[in-house]
Amino acid sequence: MMNADELFSTAKKILKQSFGFSSFRPAQEAVIQNIFAGKDTLALLPTGGGKSICYQIPALVYPGTCIVVSPLLALMKDQVDNLVENGIAAAALNSQISPEESYEIRNKAIRGELKLLYLSPERIHFELDHLLSAMRISLFAIDEAHCISVWGHDFRPEYAELHTLRKRFPQIPLVALTATADAATRKDILSQLQIPAENTVLSSFDRPNLSLNVKVNLKKRDKLQEILKLLRKHTDESGIIYCLSRKGAETLADDLRGNGIDAEAYHAGLETEERIRIQENFLNDRIQVICATTAFGMGIDKPDIRFVIHYNTPKNMEGYYQEIGRAGRDGMPSDTLLFYNDHDMVMLAKFAEESGEQELQLEKLHRIEHYATSPICRRRILLSYFGETFDHDCNHCDICKNPPQRFDGTILAQKALSAIARTHESERSEIIVDILRGNRPQEIVEKHYDELKTFGVGRSTPTEKWEAYLLQLIHLGVIEKSYAADQHLSITAFGKEILFGKRKIDLALIRNENAEASKTSRENS
Ligand code: ADP
Ligand code: ZN
Repeated sequence: MMNADELFSTAKKILKQSFGFSSFRPAQEAVIQNIFAGKDTLALLPTGGGKSICYQIPALVYPGTCIVVSPLLALMKDQVDNLVENGIAAAALNSQISPEESYEIRNKAIRGELKLLYLSPERIHFELDHLLSAMRISLFAIDEAHCISVWGHDFRPEYAELHTLRKRFPQIPLVALTATADAATRKDILSQLQIPAENTVLSSFDRPNLSLNVKVNLKKRDKLQEILKLLRKHTDESGIIYCLSRKGAETLADDLRGNGIDAEAYHAGLETEERIRIQENFLNDRIQVICATTAFGMGIDKPDIRFVIHYNTPKNMEGYYQEIGRAGRDGMPSDTLLFYNDHDMVMLAKFAEESGEQELQLEKLHRIEHYATSPICRRRILLSYFGETFDHDCNHCDICKNPPQRFDGTILAQKALSAIARTHESERSEIIVDILRGNRPQEIVEKHYDELKTFGVGRSTPTEKWEAYLLQLIHLGVIEKSYAADQHLSITAFGKEILFGKRKIDLALIRNENAEASKTSRENS
């Protein structure tokens, strides 16, 4: 058996020979080094970050077969076709495979003739006692690992069974990969697959070439004008406009065509041939703009999409991030524009209430609301949502281009952080505000919070302002709000630096509405 260094130099050779790439990206290297060191790993790489290489290369270096669990049949097929084209022995077992094919693939797998075998999650349970115990397995790769968690945006019950892999084959290395996992989802993946937290590889989720812009509560007519304005900047360049409904996508495509734009609607209600035709035409630049429901985009690999517009409010940050991430995959400057709207929110809240996990979906919806309406650099909010500390403003979003008035909020933040620390990071924001304000509702008295040193230190700041500042601190990545039912606040590593006086933090000034109003009335008189 080769040692880790020898394995890695073999890996580099194979990368060149089989894929034609001269080097690994830093995150890929970190993941592969981890695998070679025998560490189970969680890899968080943004879309386009190169997740497949992370397990395909170890699969080729190690003897035996790598089992890849993937939930998307279409992507599975693409990947296998690509590998086979590159002369790599790969196959997939899923519901689309005929019994004859399946028989042949299983035999190959048992004879050790496959380097990679893709399985849909529902197959795993069955194959555990059949195929998997009869094979020589080199590595388990769990793709789209966020599907394992109910905190994620795409929970799949079959994924919840995957912890059995870890139990049945404890000696076989495992790598879990995902492009979207907020802090809560991440913790859940780690615990279900028994991966030590320090084995997480987090590549930055920042996409610096994307400009982030939000317009709040525009009328239909004004939205169209904004879209046409953006299109004038991107003459002959491709873009996607995401809409909430099929009807909405069709109406918008009609309106755009009425304005001389080459636009088509795309949604799950179209015939398969029609959808394929539209995709092909878009890929080949024969259609400029696609007005689509979220059905569009999975597996679309068009590097030069120059803009992504959300015509309606998305239902969570994960989906939003994934969709804007389809712009500018070639690294060239690209624009994103979100139309946030209170009407959409009412409808999305209704959907959320009808869904199985009402509270979680509503909370996710609130995060979108905050993203769209708070006076903090959009990129900071986005990245702190994904658990990344981005400690400066981006200068490439509409807030940064037109910043609100700011003040040094370090002392204010320290007061809040100290209240959170003294309640052992177990309380929700209302309680923290009560402590800061020195309020004595029953819960405060029962828990003896009125005896804390921090009790009442923020009396001079009104409740609404404390609430707003706490939100800002969440968005700046200073504190984290849990998805668990108790919604407790905890302090991030960045927050600890502020608490201990090692860093300063600026906050956006929240105007005192009443004082402002009386000031203007005085000025006017
Ligand atoms: P993801 O699954 O994370 O979205 P992919 O695995 O599809 O990303 O890879 C995204 C793109 O990056 C692909 O076009 C792939 O060929 C390319 N790529 C991956 N790794 C490298 C590398 N080390 N060097 C250059 N290009 C790479
Ligand atoms: Zn910014």
